[in-house]
Order: sequence, then C-alpha cells, then structure tokens
Amino acid sequence: MAAEIHSRPQSSRPVLLSKIEGHQDAVTAALLIPKEDGVITASEDRTIRVWLKRDSGQYWPSIYHTMASPCSAMAYHHDSRRIFVGQDNGAVMEFHVSEDFNKMNFIKTYPAHQNRVSAIIFSLAAEWVISTGHDKCVSWMCTRSGNMLGRHFFTSWASCLQYDFDTQYAFVGDYSGQITLLKLEQNTCSVITTLKGHEGSVACLWWDPIQRLLFSGASDNSIIMWDIGGRKGRTLLLQGHHDRVQSLCYLQLTRQLVSCSSDGGIAVWNMDVSREEAPQWLESDSCQKCEQPFFWNIKQMWDTKTLGLRQHHCRKCGQAVCGKCSSKRSSYPVMGFEFQVRVCDSCYDSIKDEDRTSLATFHEGKHNISHMSMDIARGLMVTCGTDRVVKIWDMTPVVGCSLATGFSPH
Ligand SMILES: [Zn+2]
Ligand SMILES: [Zn+2]
Repeated sequence: MAAEIHSRPQSSRPVLLSKIEGHQDAVTAALLIPKEDGVITASEDRTIRVWLKRDSGQYWPSIYHTMASPCSAMAYHHDSRRIFVGQDNGAVMEFHVSEDFNKMNFIKTYPAHQNRVSAIIFSLAAEWVISTGHDKCVSWMCTRSGNMLGRHFFTSWASCLQYDFDTQYAFVGDYSGQITLLKLEQNTCSVITTLKGHEGSVACLWWDPIQRLLFSGASDNSIIMWDIGGRKGRTLLLQGHHDRVQSLCYLQLTRQLVSCSSDGGIAVWNMDVSREEAPQWLESDSCQKCEQPFFWNIKQMWDTKTLGLRQHHCRKCGQAVCGKCSSKRSSYPVMGFEFQVRVCDSCYDSIKDEDRTSLATFHEGKHNISHMSMDIARGLMVTCGTDRVVKIWDMTPVVGCSLATGFSPH
C-alpha cells in the first residue's frame, strides 16, 4: 500500500502520548513492542522493565528484572521474543519474554566484552549476536553455543553498530570519529573501508539496506549521509542540532530522517530533495579573495609589510578567506546548513531568499535524550534519557503520512 502524503501545516509537531517515570537512573535504551502498547526499557539503575499500557491509559511495569551491572544497551527480536541486554561489566545476557509480556526467562550469558557494551544486534538467520564495547572491539557470538566466533579491535571505544543482514557487513562507529565497514565471516572478518568525516566521536548509526544509505550522528553535532550504494563516495552533511546527535531513524517510504540530540532536539530531515555536497576546505597561505597573507605566512607579511590575518573557510565554496572577506552569515539548507554559517561575500551574494528555505523541521523533546527508537509502521517514537524519563510520541503529524504498510525492520 502506498503512503498517503498529506500536505502539512507548519505548526505540526510530535504529539506526546505518554510519559513513563520510575527508573532511578539514566534510561539507556527504550524499544516499542510492535503491535502492542508496550515498551521495553533498560537503565543504568540495573533494571530491565517491560511496560504495558493499562486501561487507565498509564504504563505500568509487567516485568521488572534486576541485573548484576548497569544496563548499557539492548536489542529486542519480536518474532522470537528474545531480549539481549548489554551491561556495563561487558556481558551480554539473553532472555526470552512470554507471549503476554508478563514473564521473562534467562537464557544465557555471552562473555562479549571486557568493558561496557555500547550496542547489540541479533541476526536470527546467522544465529549471531553482534556487539560493540568500550574494550574497543566488535564481537560476534553464536546464539546456539554461546561461543565467541570472532572479534575485531579498533584504536578507540567502539560506540555504535549497524549490520546488513543480507551481506553480513557491519558498520562500527568509534570515539575517534571514524566508521569502519567490516565483512563478518564465521570466524574471521575483513576491513572493507573506513569512513572519515566526523570531528567528534560517532554516537549513532542507521543503515538503510534498500537505498544502501548509511547515516551517522556524532558529538560534533552533525549528521553525515554516506551514499554507500552509489559507490562514488558521495556524502551529505546535515547540521541543525546544537548538541551531540544521539539517535537516528530513516523512514524509507517518505525519505525522511528523524534525529535526536542530547539537548532534546528532534529533527525531521527531508531527504527527498536534491541536496549538494559540502565542499572540502581549501588550504592557502593567503586569503583566496583579497590575497592578504595569513599569520603564518611570514615571508609574504615581510615582503608586503602587512600583518597576517586569521584563516577562515567559506562553508559554501570551501575557500580559505580572511574575516573581512567572509563577514556575513547565512543558512544554506541545500548543503545541510540549517543554521547560519560563515560564507564569503561572493557566496553570500549568490544565495537567494528561496535558497534559505529550511529542508528540515525542528522540535523540542524537552528532555535529555540518550536514545530513540521508532515503530515506523505506526509512526510512533520512544525517547529516553539521562533525566530517567521515557516519552512516547506520535510522529505522524510531522512525518505527515500514513505509514501503515506492514513494513517492519529486522
Ligand atoms: Zn580577504
Ligand atoms: Zn564562498
């Protein structure tokens, strides 16, 4: 069934449906149970809880399980009713939850990491549980035997993970700002490529297996879309958040990207428009507009008897320019600059009013979001945070369409 796209008024925003309070510490993960009015949460307070919506409209815990160590990551596979919880002590624990969500049985412990688990993915087809951790590695383990199958080490903490179920490619983001693409085999793996673009630790990744797009969010407050399928190294920058980007979800049907930042910012990016790549920053010893030397260019300063200037870069053309030649600021959404950035004078003159039309909408989550996930089929979003609060949102007024297509993620 095709999506019905309605024109949407400017005031449309996420509708807060429910707020769940009760955790005693930061909530690290919250997941919506498909087709149920239920949420599974994992927290630094060492509990996993399953919350079901009661007749009163309130969410009450039907399962309350205390772990040995703070919970740092979680994965849920609905068809097999399996919950995987990663802990601060490095272990991943598997549980089976009953059909009525009133009981949870312990299955096994995986000795996945030496340190805090940052992300978990379960592949039913491969019978693997794949995880990343602060011991700087990605590991994959057999869910039948519980044995470690393989590991790969990075130079810094592995912070996030995505996986292509068909090709067994794993994407791992790390604290150095790098993303590594690996091909996982039964007992070995090979590094395919590394993606470098962020200036801060990578906090979240989202892989779209159909359009073969990878999205990454980082502590430099920016998002990069990596066109993996295009094979030309095309990347798009999305700058609109004012804090660390914590979670991403791409809605394939409407080509919208939903992103959340730790200051509570919720952005919905229109990816169904032609966007331009931001330029590489050019290097020069003098301003590429007025030719005045930059301060390290001692020779030219001496020759021309002038004082060196500070180097800046025009975000639109990438030229190295002095402050005088780049005194104006403009947004330029087609290149991903949703807020005002430095542009050189000639680029400023080239930007028309219609070029400043925003290609994203920005909303307030009003809490410190550490993780977000969506039930795309129902247009629901759940956010959780360091403020110990879990919020359930109706996103359909923002994504502006009926997403009832039977689509479900893996
Ligand atoms: Zn200049
Ligand atoms: Zn310029």
